[in-house]
Amino acid sequence: SDMKPDDFENAVRLGEGAAGTVWKVMHAPTKIVMAKKTITVDPDPQLQRQILRELSFLKTCESPYIVSFYGAFLDDGETTIAICMEYCEGGSLEDIYKRAKQINGVIGETILANIAEAVCKGLIYLHSQKVIHRDIKPSNILMTKKGQIKLCDLGVSGELINSMAETFTGTQYYMAPERIKGAPYSVSSDIWSLGLTIIEVAQNNPALPPPGQPHLTIFELLDFIVHQPMPTVGSDRSIECQNFVSTCLIKDPEHRPTPEEMLNNEFIKTRADATCDIEGWLKGLWGW
Ligand code: ADP
Ligand code: MG
Repeated sequence: SDMKPDDFENAVRLGEGAAGTVWKVMHAPTKIVMAKKTITVDPDPQLQRQILRELSFLKTCESPYIVSFYGAFLDDGETTIAICMEYCEGGSLEDIYKRAKQINGVIGETILANIAEAVCKGLIYLHSQKVIHRDIKPSNILMTKKGQIKLCDLGVSGELINSMAETFTGTQYYMAPERIKGAPYSVSSDIWSLGLTIIEVAQNNPALPPPGQPHLTIFELLDFIVHQPMPTVGSDRSIECQNFVSTCLIKDPEHRPTPEEMLNNEFIKTRADATCDIEGWLKGLWGW
């Protein structure tokens, strides 16, 4: 099914990132409600065709832990690519923890452990498809209305990553030390980012910049990530949760576990619970 710009109705803005804007839209021909992300890219048609070709890999991605992909196309104008994906009503973990903070709520250990498990399972699936996510952070982990936890914004298009390279922003917070030093990505680099994500969601605040040093320049922050001890999850959390996070944040990628190995971590083994009513919890959180 080929999608075109004028197939969409009722656009509502959901959010904005460094690279683009995300809209809730209705795909009129199928009546499916989708999330449509628009990204500004280089006007070179050959480059754009390459990006669309690389994105088409997403069609083959099928996992309960990965946001479904509906299609990508050249949107209005000469410099915009649109990516249509499953709309996740529950929002991102960033939306969720900020809402929890607003209503003085805390995200419990069971939900945290379920998030850790879903991310590891998503990464294992991606690895089996020879893909590394490359951008694990709270805003790229979404919840559906039913309380399923899914990854979005996979780094499948090298050309798209290149064309966004100029938008160098605060996102670098989640980057593993080996990446900062210029070594290649591995699946364990995504585990590092998971560790920072769990701290952030557990405390309703980003883990970095570190609490005592809020005004580091980007260079100082990257240097801190490479050389200084990382923040930990608060002592109000279980020992299992604290250990999980410090294992994710092992600086040497050779010693940091893979997603498969992290699935056997005590935090997931003892705290994750498939019967946890995340759907009901989301209802309370968002007042549905
Ligand atoms: P970032 O991930 O850096 O926040 P994005 O442009 O990827 O920037 O996303 C912006 C916001 O749009 C996210 O924080 C999230 O709130 C929302 N969003 C993205 N994708 C979806 C989706 N598939 N379903 C619902 N909301 C989404
Ligand atoms: Mg995103």
